[in-house]
Amino acid sequence: MLAMANQRYENNPASRFVGEYDMNYLLKPLKKEYPFLKLSDATSLLVVNHNLALAYQNLFQHRGGHPRFKSRHSAKQAYTGRSICLVEAKRRLKLPKIGSIRTSKTGRLANAKIKRYTISHESTGRYYISLQVEIEVHDLPKTNQQVGLDLGVSDLAIDSTGVKYGTFNAQWLKKQAQRWQAKFSRRRHQATVAMHQWNHHHKLSKMALNDYQNWQRAKMTKARYQTKIANQRKDYLHKLTTALVRKYDVIVIEDLKTKNLMRNHHLAKAIANASWYQFRTMLEYKCDWYGKRLVVVSANNTSRICSSCGHNGGAKPLAIREWTCHQCQTHHDRDINAAVNILKRGLKATG
Ligand SMILES: [Zn+2]
Repeated sequence: MLAMANQRYENNPASRFVGEYDMNYLLKPLKKEYPFLKLSDATSLLVVNHNLALAYQNLFQHRGGHPRFKSRHSAKQAYTGRSICLVEAKRRLKLPKIGSIRTSKTGRLANAKIKRYTISHESTGRYYISLQVEIEVHDLPKTNQQVGLDLGVSDLAIDSTGVKYGTFNAQWLKKQAQRWQAKFSRRRHQATVAMHQWNHHHKLSKMALNDYQNWQRAKMTKARYQTKIANQRKDYLHKLTTALVRKYDVIVIEDLKTKNLMRNHHLAKAIANASWYQFRTMLEYKCDWYGKRLVVVSANNTSRICSSCGHNGGAKPLAIREWTCHQCQTHHDRDINAAVNILKRGLKATG
């Protein structure tokens, strides 16, 4: 479809763009010409047409670049279909064209209506299925509790009651990931050298970088460790945010944009940033699902103002973890004080 659109434009730049429905109409003759198209779930071709039409719409409205062809070499390969997939048993799904496959738990799909599915083949060599489902979500019971959260680097968050939620830590896994990253780079270099030597001496049979298994194996192992770390971090954040949404009716957090302006260690900051972003996104949609409220307030001066009397104690270096207010003599833990200020600001904003 993309090649056709390109060709039409090349032949006549003034020609009309072939829209989504016309593209769908063209599928039938194309299937005759290229029988392999019939091997795929028919709806997956419709999804591709839809995405291409969207990409062109974005291009025409100056929101995106020119659509490109999919690459065989891209790390992640995936397709999406809208056909019906059936839950056959506890850990079994039936997919169009593929048939029955073993999956992880399907219990949660009991009352869900599957709208579309995506099969992906990750660089770890594993296949995943993700489902878009329609499901009725009920509000969680109200608790009449509110909380303010101060996001940090050494701890992920500190709440206004003084509870600290640590950052996700997987030292051993991180070390393994680093080791395999190093092996990956070294073997890649070795493979490149070997390939050039071979191709220099052999005129007839040429080698490609992908033919060197040692390097391929390192690539996969590296990707597996990295995915494991990311999945564990995600799992940790899911458990944490679900617990918070269960316990509190109103959750107040600070705006990350202003927080980002603060200077800190670059690496720690980058990692914290990724977690903060996921943390906030999860809180946003979970509050929305379960009838709770997330309030975002400005982070200005939250660590300077005394939460007891409102006196601005001025800037303090990050090393100072505790301080005493000059005006009312209250002794503060820096982070808990900030969390209390955030909560107060949020409650003021909501009335
Ligand atoms: Zn004070």
